[in-house]
Amino acid sequence: LKGNKENLSSVEKEIERALRPLSFDDFTGQDKVLENLKIFVTAAKQREEALDHVLLHGPPGLGKTTLSNIVANELEANIKITSGPVLDKPSDLAGLLTNLQPFDVLFIDEIHRLNPIVEEYLYSAMEDYKIDILLDSGPNARSVQISLNPFTLIGATTRAGLLTAPLRARFGINARLEYYDAKLLTTIVQRSCHILDMPIDDAGAFEIARRSRGTPRIANNLLRRTRDFAQVKGNGRITVDIAEMALSALDVDQNGLDEMDNRILSTIIEKFKGGPVGLSTIATACGEEAETIEEVYEPFLIQEGFLKRTSRGREATEKAYVHLGIVPKYRAGE
Ligand code: ADP
Repeated sequence: LKGNKENLSSVEKEIERALRPLSFDDFTGQDKVLENLKIFVTAAKQREEALDHVLLHGPPGLGKTTLSNIVANELEANIKITSGPVLDKPSDLAGLLTNLQPFDVLFIDEIHRLNPIVEEYLYSAMEDYKIDILLDSGPNARSVQISLNPFTLIGATTRAGLLTAPLRARFGINARLEYYDAKLLTTIVQRSCHILDMPIDDAGAFEIARRSRGTPRIANNLLRRTRDFAQVKGNGRITVDIAEMALSALDVDQNGLDEMDNRILSTIIEKFKGGPVGLSTIATACGEEAETIEEVYEPFLIQEGFLKRTSRGREATEKAYVHLGIVPKYRAGE
């Protein structure tokens, strides 16, 4: 249920495609980012120039890929999609870049995971629409410069802090996506139900929305699972009772925290006296990768006030103790 796209079946991928908004008007939330992008896209089109390069950052599942597709649609351009870890060597990137038509979009997901050699290669492409290609090797080696069509690079990252300064400096547009509030997610859930022809009550939609960790991808995933419950345990309609039943069966608690969120909090509290404790220690104790905790779980726990990051490590807040029904040790004796 987490923000990852990898383990979806082909039917689920099909559904995900059907639910993806295709235009600015179809996209819910992120108003400020959207307003700015609309202006930049319109201006670039009027001037018949490529849109400046765009960096989108924020937690997984908030719409970075979706927005990139929308920007390409609105530019009436093609989009080529790749990701940092897939671009192994400069020639992989050269292949993509030389095939771009004027004003096309190249989308690189997880751009913080680019191989440094590939990244360096990207600099001149972004700056001057030129790349140097090495022909032959050994004593005959020589390089030729190739001009590219003007294009827009859209980079997406969950970890803007890991981008090198030279790469970051080459993005003219930099936008941060925020978690969605329950009201916006209710609209998204209702829109998805409409597209998939699923009957749902307002209260049922709100219940799924408010327990989706502020993330459209999770809201859509929970909706699909809730539909199964509505079909098997109800009459097909998603009501608040059906939503409650499905969410508790999926271990999504009343605050929308899932099993791993709760494991992280209870580990910090029970094994490390509430912290502060280092990320890698938490990761080992929870059996989850430190990177995943930092990118996926922690940002939401911090935003919701369950967790604090201090210079000495992570600390559980009073809200976390209350949430888990644990009396803080320093209080127990008072
Ligand atoms: P990211 O690239 O940030 O991980 P995606 O763009 O892949 O996230 O979005 C995940 C899913 O959530 C998409 O399938 C899309 O249907 C849905 N989604 C994301 N943002 C929105 C939105 N603002 N409105 C409606 N659906 C959205």
